[in-house]
Amino acid sequence: MVGPSPATWDGVWDATSAAAAVRDHDTGVEGDPTEVFAAHLASGWTLRPRRGVAGTHRSAGGGAELGSEGTLDSSAFVPTSRCLDLCAPRDDAATDDGSDGSADDADVFAADANEKKTAFARRWLRTVREAFGLKPMAPRDPNDAEATRPIARAIARLCGGVSAARLGGVTCRDRRWCRAGLVEASAALARVAAFPKSVSKKIASDVSRRAAAAAGDLAAGVARSLRDAARALDEDAALGRAIVPSHDSIDSESRPDDPFARAAAAMGAGSREIEAPGRGSQPFLPARGDARVTHRCTIALAAALDEAWLQVAYHARACGWCDPSDAYGARAESVRESGKTASDASAAYFAAAENAWRASALDRHALVEKARADPNPFASVLHSRLREGARLFARAREEENKTLFPRDVVPPEEGVGERAVVAAAEAVRKNSKKGNEKRKRSSTTRSALPVPACPPLTRAWRDACRSWPCRLYAFAAPTDAALRALKRSATRWLEVGAGAGYWAAQMRRSGMDVVAADVDPPGEGTHNAYHGSCAPWHPVVRGDAGAARSAGEKAASPAGASRLAGRAVFMCYPPPGFDSRMASETLEAFVASIGSNRNHGRDDETGHVLALVGEWDGNTADGAFARLLTKHFYLARRAALPQWGDTAHELTVWKRKTGNRAVDVAIPLKSCAWCGGGRVEGDAFSATKPNDDRNVLRRCVLCRDDCGTFCSASCARLGAAKHAETHELRLIPTPIEMLEDWSDRGEYVAFRPFA
Ligand SMILES: [Zn+2]
Ligand SMILES: [Zn+2]
Repeated sequence: MVGPSPATWDGVWDATSAAAAVRDHDTGVEGDPTEVFAAHLASGWTLRPRRGVAGTHRSAGGGAELGSEGTLDSSAFVPTSRCLDLCAPRDDAATDDGSDGSADDADVFAADANEKKTAFARRWLRTVREAFGLKPMAPRDPNDAEATRPIARAIARLCGGVSAARLGGVTCRDRRWCRAGLVEASAALARVAAFPKSVSKKIASDVSRRAAAAAGDLAAGVARSLRDAARALDEDAALGRAIVPSHDSIDSESRPDDPFARAAAAMGAGSREIEAPGRGSQPFLPARGDARVTHRCTIALAAALDEAWLQVAYHARACGWCDPSDAYGARAESVRESGKTASDASAAYFAAAENAWRASALDRHALVEKARADPNPFASVLHSRLREGARLFARAREEENKTLFPRDVVPPEEGVGERAVVAAAEAVRKNSKKGNEKRKRSSTTRSALPVPACPPLTRAWRDACRSWPCRLYAFAAPTDAALRALKRSATRWLEVGAGAGYWAAQMRRSGMDVVAADVDPPGEGTHNAYHGSCAPWHPVVRGDAGAARSAGEKAASPAGASRLAGRAVFMCYPPPGFDSRMASETLEAFVASIGSNRNHGRDDETGHVLALVGEWDGNTADGAFARLLTKHFYLARRAALPQWGDTAHELTVWKRKTGNRAVDVAIPLKSCAWCGGGRVEGDAFSATKPNDDRNVLRRCVLCRDDCGTFCSASCARLGAAKHAETHELRLIPTPIEMLEDWSDRGEYVAFRPFA
């Protein structure tokens, strides 16, 4: 009997935590903008009236167009009444080195007579300033500071604009403030784009040339994201007025308690060079009724701006000149030892952005610090995306008073999950450089399993959450439970197809000895199809499937045994069979070598273990791999992993069969979510009972979740409530009748890992 336990993925994210994330978010408080923008203000950013425009009264709601080269021209905005600009500090401002910002900290919190409070505020502002990328990146080699300063400053300003647009649009839901951020971001982007031209090819140093190439890539990618954000904002202008809550129609100028008016006054006070007219008593903001962003728009904005930010994060790891202090997984150790705080920026950024609405600075600070110190930043980023997604979508559904599903469903013919997302990004990148080599990949993906259908907004959010993190970290995030399952199975591992080595780094952190290999290790001067030039998290050596042959050899064999011998083999999301035979080749090599030393028995167990992260009839390996695997190995352990919304991956640990039924106790590959029975179609190995004649398992195509896998119509009906919860977690709330429909018109298809 299934208890009332909620639908869960990885022991961290479940229906209860999703509900808490939504409940926690107090819609009544929109956040004090002075607090929301505190980091920007403390870094010398100002909010000031546009010269020559303030006081004029032309129509509000003007749109912005991005030029073909991707710059967002501020003059394209129709000036609204009493326009405001959020401005980056001048380049000669003394905030480059972080520490100099303290004078500004004190200014912003001048009202705090209490010294302790001021000290806290300073610490908090420094943390969040780093989190938002307002502090320019430092070169690895101090001698390169001169050459890289212009690009470092331009990128810091870009981060400032992008984060300001996100805070203004998503946290404050204020169209004008979001625009102001976008204008700043695009001005900064123009500088990033101009940087390569400023580098003379003849006399430039290596580091300058690398910086120029990376800046060019960054500018092209971010321009698209900023265009998406500007478009979302414009499209929302019409929709927005129709659903503005009644209290928003009150003119802020008649409401002296308006936090936006207060913030404008505070920001004016923070400006060194502009005397803000009407500061204090006369805020220069137009009526708020025209300026409110819909919740639907916040999702589109967050998706576009997060992609922009993540491309900067990728740049930081791929540019070859700045210091990815966490490269080679040394971050946690070095932070502990040196007390240094520089770390993977993304976890802190998303914690800061996600929690900017919280009233308590203490809470915000604690959450950002916690994310920054997280030794598994990828899981931190992912869980943050899950929480914010739950919140944003719940608010949008409330606002529109309807479910976002199943209307306007994206037809499922394009792509095949995150690999397709990354491959598509890669194709765009290559095409933009007049190369077409990736076209082949994007056309072949169509023959594979389609992405589950979902509404366009859900799709945009899912893609934004995963495509760049996949590139930066890995295709699935490890959890503590998964790492424990690996460690219990073997302590010495060979990871084949290790990509950026993120899993290897996490396994090492958990006390395992890992050799990570990839045919194309990403990093400086190399290019990996899935991870680009991203600096690896763990040393990745060049090696193909053949490395698994050495791993299968007995470790204790006499001299000549390689350091690969006697290792268990691990693969995270090996490419689907239509893309590459890597998974099958690895397994074949592994089976061949352990088969040849069968006489050695199982005393050295580690050489007989294979662990896999991936899906079963989705975009991992293929049926031939599954058949070979289940012929020689039995499923000994599994661990759930957090999902990207339309994925169904997990960690499975396989042990070599001994032929002794008492030893080879397999757990079933899949079973019915309600009764625990059912048979996998084409199953080559027995599950719990050798002659289980129960029905073939069918799985919901919309979620492909374990909670949506059933053996019969009655089980599907009985398990529908929990199944519906998992659809909520995947941001596709679905009518329960749809989930109960077991007929051929319904959304269930046979689970076919061996097809
Ligand atoms: Zn059943
Ligand atoms: Zn489902």
